[in-house]
This record gives sequence, C-alpha cells and structure tokens, in this order.
Amino acid sequence: MRITCVGGGPAGLYFAVLAKLANPANEVTVLERNPPGVTYGWGVVFWDDLLDDLFHYDPVSAGRLWRAACKWDEYEVRATGKEVTHLAGYGFSLGRHRMLQILTARAVELGVDVRFSDDAVSPPDADLVVACDGAGSSLRSLDAEHFGTEIATGRNRYTWLGTPHVFRTFTFGFEQTHAGWIWYHAYPFDDNTSTFIVECTPETWAGLELDRLDPAAGTARLETIFAAHLDGQPLVDRGSGWMNFRRVTNQRWDNGNVVLMGDAAHTTHFAIGSGTKLAMQDAMALADALAEASDGPLAPALERYEHRRRAALAPLQRAAQASSEWFERMPEYADLPSIRFSYALSDRRGEYPLWRYLLHLSTQRSVTRALLRRALSARRWSRARRRRPGDPAPATRAAPLPTGG
Ligand SMILES: Cc1cc2nc3c(=O)[nH]c(=O)nc-3n(C[C@H](O)[C@H](O)[C@H](O)COP(=O)(O)OP(=O)(O)OC[C@H]3O[C@@H](n4cnc5c(N)ncnc54)[C@H](O)[C@@H]3O)c2cc1C
Repeated sequence: MRITCVGGGPAGLYFAVLAKLANPANEVTVLERNPPGVTYGWGVVFWDDLLDDLFHYDPVSAGRLWRAACKWDEYEVRATGKEVTHLAGYGFSLGRHRMLQILTARAVELGVDVRFSDDAVSPPDADLVVACDGAGSSLRSLDAEHFGTEIATGRNRYTWLGTPHVFRTFTFGFEQTHAGWIWYHAYPFDDNTSTFIVECTPETWAGLELDRLDPAAGTARLETIFAAHLDGQPLVDRGSGWMNFRRVTNQRWDNGNVVLMGDAAHTTHFAIGSGTKLAMQDAMALADALAEASDGPLAPALERYEHRRRAALAPLQRAAQASSEWFERMPEYADLPSIRFSYALSDRRGEYPLWRYLLHLSTQRSVTRALLRRALSARRWSRARRRRPGDPAPATRAAPLPTGG
C-alpha cells in the first residue's frame, strides 16, 4: 500500500512507524513543511496510559521516549497572597522537538521516506492520504464542507513560552496584577528548560497592555510579573504570539482515500495536556483498523477508526472543556483560601468524590506528602516493569523527594 502522511507531527510520524511495522512492504512517506529540527512549542506532558500504549505498539520508540522523558512527581500551586500547596500525582514531560527527533529517526530506520520542507497544498497521489497537518489543516480546509469542520474559539488568551529556569515539578502559578489575575502552567522537560504557558482573561490581557506591546516588551512585562517564580531567569518567546485556543471538531473524518488524524480531526484544550496522546492514539487506532481490513476496501476501515476514536475521545473532550472553562472563570475562585483554591483547581472537571478532598488535605503535610510520593514512585516503577520484556532499562531524571511543605 502507498501511504502518505501530510504533516510530520506526533500523529503523522507515529502512524508512519506503525504502518511500516505492520507491513514493511508498505511504501510510507511523510511530508513535513518545516525543515528538519524546526517545530513550534516547547515541552509536552503525558502519563502512564500513553506509555503503556506506546510500549504495546512499538517498544523500540517507546523505550527511547521513556528514557528521554523528564519525570516529575507532584503538582505545586503558587498564588499571590496564598501559601504554596501541593496536588498529588506524577507524570512525564518531553520537549516536542526531542519527541519528533526520536519519532523521525525511528521512522527513517524502518524505511519511511520523511521529506522535510515539503508543503503539501493538495492531497498527494497515494492509496491512503493521512491528513495530520495540525489544527489549521490545509488538506481539511480544501473540503471543509464535506468534513463539517467547526472551530470554536476559547475566551482566554495564552502564549506558549519556554524558560531556562528548571521548575522542580509541574507548577501552576497565579499572580494578581492591577489588571486582574494572570497565571502559568510550567514544568521541566529536560535538564535545562521548562515549558511556561501563560494565560489570562482578555480583560487582563488588554489591561496589562499585552495587546499593544511588541513581543519583546510583552515578554519583558511577563518576566516582571512572574519574577518571583523565575529565579532571575528569562522567558523565551520563539514567536508563538498570543492566541485563543481553537476547538476543532469535524462531522466526518474521511473523504475517499483522505482521512483526518490528530489535531486536524479534533483539538483538545492544553489545560489537560492530552492532545499529543490523542494524536498518537489515533495513529494506533488507524493502524489497527487497517490491519483488521487486511486487503479489503478502505472505507469500512476508515469508518471503524473514526467510530472507535470518537468514543474514546468523548470523555476527555468533556474534561478538557470543563477544564478550560474553569480557567475562564478563574478569578471567581481567587478569594478561596489556599487549600480550597488548589483543590478547586485539581477538581476543575468536577468529578472527584469526597475522599479526594481528604487526600488533598493530607497532601499538604510534608510527611504525608513524602509518603505519598514514595507510593506513587513505586507505582510508576512497577507499571514500568510490567511493560514489554526486552525494553531497555529506563534511565531517569527523577525529581528529588520533598524535604518540606
Ligand atoms: C500551548 C499548548 C500546550 C500543549 N501541551 C500539550 C501537552 O502538554 N501534552 C499533550 O499531549 N499535548 C499538548 N498540546 C497539544 C499538542 O501539541 C497537539 O495536540 C499535538 O501536537 C497534535 O499532534 P498532530 O501531529 O496532530 O499535529 P501537529 O503536532 O500540529 O503536527 C502537524 C504537523 O504538520 C505540519 N504541516 C502543517 N501543514 C502542512 C502542510 N501543508 N504540508 C506539510 N506539513 C504540514 C506542521 O508543520 C506540523 O509539523 C499542547 C498544545 C498547545 C497549543
């Protein structure tokens, strides 16, 4: 089969890997409009569920991603005028650039033809064209009516920055300014860099003149606002600019031999950090659907893929929606005492039973927190050990255990 993936993001590269693993005779091409090593954004987070899937589908690339990932083991919440509080949980983070480098190398070693600086403006000639060219997909736009594309724009403004300040762990920081609250989601993703996503309401954005300042002056203003969090380190803007989140949905995901995947099919608000996972799980589902179809017709396989993915996505998309709405209403929660504020933040999807609040209360005590982190760390390692035998031994950069609260 001749397969072309338009877009060399996580969805396209991972699907290319799986298509080659499924049948080395498949002729698989990835067209990526950027030159090698060029991409947008900074680090992304993910959790054990994605790693389980990655190890199941391709232990080789999974082992490389796992070894490259930064491991963090709790959330910290900082807000003006409130004590620092903590949320239980652990996860992983990895630079988008590094992730794509690993996936590209894996694809190339399996025989995928990865072509950079190749901007596909129309569907290429292939048996199957995977349109995985991101939220603004130009292939999808060619037939937006057929796909039934809808784009809803979120209210808040955000910008995706980086910083050489290496945060100890995943941190939410909220600062009160004369123009209202502004906050960040930050986490380390390698030994030298953290992701730093800044978000605020449009009123605060305008009140801080971030709508008028040039990018360098805007970044300097953010550095001043968040100085207490950055330990004297700068913020780095790679030109992402201020955006509103765009929630993309499509009524149909296929059109003849063209099928949508990843952000081109659906976007998921970054407040739950799942878009990359969902894009890669799309790739897994399409690979499965094609394998089941064997040499049969394409259409039923594409329908099966879409049907399964819609069902799997629905709960996460509801969670993402609730989560992004919480951040749109954030100023309403600002007067809560610190522990209740961070609990409201963690329960922003509104799903937690009472015991989670009790756990949250106990997490604020340093001894309980240390015990909890040890228990979660043990769970992480035991889950890692259960993954496919033969995976290379993980080499971690674990965050240190807490010394105080
Ligand atoms: C601020 C922010 C933070 C995020 N944080 C996380 C996180 O922590 N965890 C997480 O899981 N997800 C996160 N996401 C979401 C994640 O980035 C996306 O969901 C994910 O990248 C989607 O992968 P994709 O392969 O579908 O699309 P993309 O990663 O967007 O890749 C599409 C590729 O297609 C290329 N392309 C576009 N048009 C063409 C063309 N015409 N021809 C050839 N190539 C083309 C682009 O250059 C790009 O490389 C975040 C998103 C944002 C905005």
